[in-house]
Amino acid sequence: MTYIKPLPQPNADTKPFWDGCFEHQLRFQKCRDCEHVRWPPSVICPLCYSPNTDWIVASGKGIVYTFVVHHYAYNKAFEDELPYITAIIELEEGPHILSNIVDCHPSELKCDVPVSIVWDDITEEFSLPKFILSA
Ligand SMILES: [Zn+2]
Repeated sequence: MTYIKPLPQPNADTKPFWDGCFEHQLRFQKCRDCEHVRWPPSVICPLCYSPNTDWIVASGKGIVYTFVVHHYAYNKAFEDELPYITAIIELEEGPHILSNIVDCHPSELKCDVPVSIVWDDITEEFSLPKFILSA
């Protein structure tokens, strides 16, 4: 089946993140000088401006910071999934990432509940990080 939703557009900064997703690893940059874990990727640390960076693999665990339930598809490719949930996940390592909560009825969801990562292999080149309610 052809994937018709918008695809990621990796650039020099985000390619390590998308390569990690393909390997089912959620990767973030961590500043070697102040240890800030950042998202989105950038050339320098937004806190201390250091260019010294390592990539770490995050646990994939966090909590729902906030969310919205979509009842209208702004892109026709999403019509079959209505209603669907877009959320900002506050990860254990610190970054807030925008994703979807899947396998969850909107009435089950509230802020601050724990979630865990699942991978959606959308094409032969991309996997998307999504989240489910933790058991
Ligand atoms: Zn720093």
